Amino acid sequence: SDEGASAGAATEPPKKHPKGVILGKDGKPCRACNTFASFTAQSKSTLKAAAAPGPPKDCPPDVEQLGRSTWTLLHSIAATYPSTPTPKEQSDIKSFMRLFAKLYPCWVCAEDFQNYMQKKEVEAGSRDEFGNWLCEAHNEVNRKLGKPTFDCSKWEERYGTDMAD
Ligand code: FAD
Repeated sequence: SDEGASAGAATEPPKKHPKGVILGKDGKPCRACNTFASFTAQSKSTLKAAAAPGPPKDCPPDVEQLGRSTWTLLHSIAATYPSTPTPKEQSDIKSFMRLFAKLYPCWVCAEDFQNYMQKKEVEAGSRDEFGNWLCEAHNEVNRKLGKPTFDCSKWEERYGTDMAD
């Protein structure tokens, strides 16, 4: 838990562009931290982008595409996590989540998620436990963004790997 606790604290990144766009640690607009619409609103190639209904398929992901794909991966990992994990499997998933929260490309998302994980430690005693912990974590982000919360009794139905007849 002491790993890298102070890393990055020395250089406080600039937070926002005058147009409300979140900047990356390099001081440039951060694509993974903004929606396609807000990212393109500040760029010079706005005219082309403004005409498009959404990001072209071959564009790097914005904060929403990245988020959707990531939640799919995380909940799918929960769905294949063992019902009765060994101590090693439990420590692996905790390490994975800790590193995930450090490396997530949207740094503002990552910071909030790291804070959340400090308040609500990863629960990994069983598939049920981890799946519910993750569902609650996702709901916390939903609340922050003003999105509806998800009924966590249904997470396995949504992401489980059992094939329906
Ligand atoms: P998503 O939230 O991406 O969800 C995808 C699908 O998962 C939903 O359609 C629904 O079927 C299902 N679902 C919804 N809630 C749950 C749940 N609780 N449990 C199980 N399944 C569920 N975006 C920001 O703008 N700011 C942030 O700070 C931010 N932080 C993030 C932190 C993390 C760790 C991640 C992975 C993403 C974060 N995002 C953030 C992205 C954000 O959560 C959404 O992914 C993005 O806004 C797209 O939302 P969406 O409406 O498509 O649904």
